Amino acid sequence: MRLLLVEDDRMIGDSLRNALRQAGFAVDLVRDGRAAESTLASERFDLVLLDLGLPQRDGMDVLRATRARGDRTPVIVLTARDTLTARVRGLDAGADDYIVKPFELDELLARIRAVVRRQAGRAETTLAVGEVTLDTATRQVTLAGAPVALSAREYAVLEALMLRPGAILSRAQLEDRLYGWGEELESNAITVYVHQLRRKLGERFIHTVRGVGYYVGVPGAGSA
Ligand code: CA
Repeated sequence: MRLLLVEDDRMIGDSLRNALRQAGFAVDLVRDGRAAESTLASERFDLVLLDLGLPQRDGMDVLRATRARGDRTPVIVLTARDTLTARVRGLDAGADDYIVKPFELDELLARIRAVVRRQAGRAETTLAVGEVTLDTATRQVTLAGAPVALSAREYAVLEALMLRPGAILSRAQLEDRLYGWGEELESNAITVYVHQLRRKLGERFIHTVRGVGYYVGVPGAGSA
């Protein structure tokens, strides 16, 4: 999953980015409100972690402008403004959840999973397509009930496909979910991960649409 982290405090921003990468997310970090707005207008993320007290433009203004454009990307507000009024304003402005600094990483990770599940309209943490199941909380994958060991990047590709069974994801869309800015990208990386996944999950689990992309499940069942 690809996250945008908006945080002007250098120490919090850097350490949170590293911790989230360790947890398996592709993370891009911007440090002011204007950069957040232009990034959100031009790139697609699965979730935004948004500080409110930001230079250039307040986080609340960024959030309102994003929603006004019709962008429904889930947003979790990260802030030190722990007053009822601030929480209510944030939620009214279109935030999906709210976490007050300082917080524990485990709590943030649980909230990220909950928001992504709600966005996908699912209450369960387990995705199932054919004989393959994937638990987004424990990152456990099984084939016909037997655990399958995947690398972090193989998992990320599989999760992206299984979150939308039937939808065709292009190589570029899959790359977006794997890499944050500044990370080295091998041109054939997605081909390699798909090949590994097929080796572990069966040749027929991931389908190729030549020149378009990949999907799992029944074609056209999901929405792109
Ligand atoms: Ca701040």
